[in-house]
Amino acid sequence: MSPSETDQAAAQLEYRVFTATRPGINPDVPPGYESLAWVANSATMIYGKRDAVLVDTFFTLDHSAMLTDQLAASGKNLTYVYITHAHGDHFFGISLLKRRFPNLRAVAPASVVDRIDKRLAADMQVLRGRFPGQIPDDPGVPERLDGASIELEGNPLIPIETGYTDSADSTSLHVPSIELVAAGDVVYNGIHPFLAETTAQTRLQWIDALDKLEALEPRAVVAGHKIPGHDDHPRNIAETRNYLRDFIRLDQATDTPRALFDAMIELYPDRANPGSLWGGATAAKSEAATGSPSTVTTAARDERSEEP
Ligand SMILES: [Zn+2]
Repeated sequence: MSPSETDQAAAQLEYRVFTATRPGINPDVPPGYESLAWVANSATMIYGKRDAVLVDTFFTLDHSAMLTDQLAASGKNLTYVYITHAHGDHFFGISLLKRRFPNLRAVAPASVVDRIDKRLAADMQVLRGRFPGQIPDDPGVPERLDGASIELEGNPLIPIETGYTDSADSTSLHVPSIELVAAGDVVYNGIHPFLAETTAQTRLQWIDALDKLEALEPRAVVAGHKIPGHDDHPRNIAETRNYLRDFIRLDQATDTPRALFDAMIELYPDRANPGSLWGGATAAKSEAATGSPSTVTTAARDERSEEP
């Protein structure tokens, strides 16, 4: 198609990023980092003239209610919410959104839906204890996305399978027409990545996933966890990769969780949610000692999954 034909066929899309800030919840972080003990989630609304698609929801009931109001105020017809991965802080708002937008479909690739099936019950049990009154009884789950993409006013929105990043079976959503990647938790922006579910091997897979997103040559990259107000520059891909490389290198150069934590904090003193780094350092040293990233069961390890 010539450019003019393309213009006629597809509306020009835009996007808007919503953020919600909550306390970091790893209680074991070394003292002295209280002022940074918070984390922010993002949800990205991609929209045309009339319709909109949301990427991920918020976590708590309060934040989901706030997001629903903001989406309603936009005046757009919300057709889909796309869920990037199986961590509850990215999809626990589904039921609430569906009540407000009855025609809304929540979708994800089959791999994400299957992963949610495997871990939701254990996650729910733990999170209800940690966020009393803030976790919906029935958060809702996405249905399997049929087809290779979501259509928004003539534009394809394409899921990118990124494999094991901060959890198994993660994905991002690529919008080629506006050179946007809504990265989910493949990319972090100003916040310590969640490493507690990773291993020495999967951290290398995460780097591969970042290379895969970079090869799309996006103009904007929205991280699943970003400091509110930070821009969505694609350098966040390289910054996340550098962080992982530093963690891998310093893991090999240190013997204890505290030494690894301190060495990383020296390089990244300003990132929010150091509890996430502490959980990652603890898991890495446990793996070095026992061959497993944690001495606890898989289900119990999944407990940490909501501590991005
Ligand atoms: Zn997350």
